[in-house]
Amino acid sequence: ATPMSVMVGVGKAAEAGVLIRNGEALQTASKISVMILDKTGTITEGTPKVTDIILANFSDEKTVLQLAASLENGSEHPLAMAIVESAHDQGIELLKTEEFNAITGMGVEGRCEGKALLFGNSKLMASKGVGIGNYSEKAQTLAKDAKTPMYFAVDGQLAAIIAVADPIKPDSVSAIKRLQANDIRVIMLTGDNKETAAAVAKKAAISEFFAEVLPEDKANKVHELQQQREVVGMTGDGINDAPALALADVGFAIGTGTDVAIESADITLMRGSLHGLADAIAVSKATLRNIK
Ligand code: ADP
Ligand code: MG
Repeated sequence: ATPMSVMVGVGKAAEAGVLIRNGEALQTASKISVMILDKTGTITEGTPKVTDIILANFSDEKTVLQLAASLENGSEHPLAMAIVESAHDQGIELLKTEEFNAITGMGVEGRCEGKALLFGNSKLMASKGVGIGNYSEKAQTLAKDAKTPMYFAVDGQLAAIIAVADPIKPDSVSAIKRLQANDIRVIMLTGDNKETAAAVAKKAAISEFFAEVLPEDKANKVHELQQQREVVGMTGDGINDAPALALADVGFAIGTGTDVAIESADITLMRGSLHGLADAIAVSKATLRNIK
């Protein structure tokens, strides 16, 4: 396309709240064959809320929440914020913790009042030798309801399951259907567990998804699809998504997302809505048509 028609396209996109940082991305957007969407904060609102606390070998819900929130106070993960907020809402005061450690894609650990605390997914519990017994069934029931269950252990013993829910943005489904109507294969990518991912994908009208993807493997998924001669669009909001956004043929960042994601992407969806994707593709097609 001529520099002039690209400029016009960039302007048109901007009117729709789609900020295009490089003209080349605008031209590639119309050729996207696969769109990868991150789950949390991209398809969903990204502000999970605590919905369930199921006690196991522990008598008191308030203490569980106090310990879990004290530990999570050291983390910036959206799941951590949900726990801290829930404690705050109940007027629970946070305690000092030591030896805090975040284990990427799995959870967090630390010490509080002489107790060893562990909070995260089933992989984390397995890796630290914490038995979850038939509590995995309770976790699965929560996950089938599109909630994310997390295991909380105190001194090596399961103390509770805490679940959060993160609703899908009201217009995500219609935006995803617009992409599919453009013959684009839509794939959801998440670090969350398989059951929750399946439930969210179903609600979002997405038939293909990869779950339990470690942050470092998100970019590998983009690469794999490129090897299969797909033109890959990637949409995300998190620090975790940055390498995948940079590698994709066109990277789209959610405007309300992290700075790292925005800097790694070619295009920013200022309104946070996934409709910006189909809008960008439409402008791209119009731009290429104008030069012919
Ligand atoms: P995503 O942001 O896509 O959910 P992550 O790779 O950040 O993926 O996390 C994967 C999983 O690891 C989460 O679904 C959760 O079960 C667990 N996890 C990660 N960070 C935390 C945390 N701070 N507290 C509790 N669990 C966590
Ligand atoms: Mg995200």
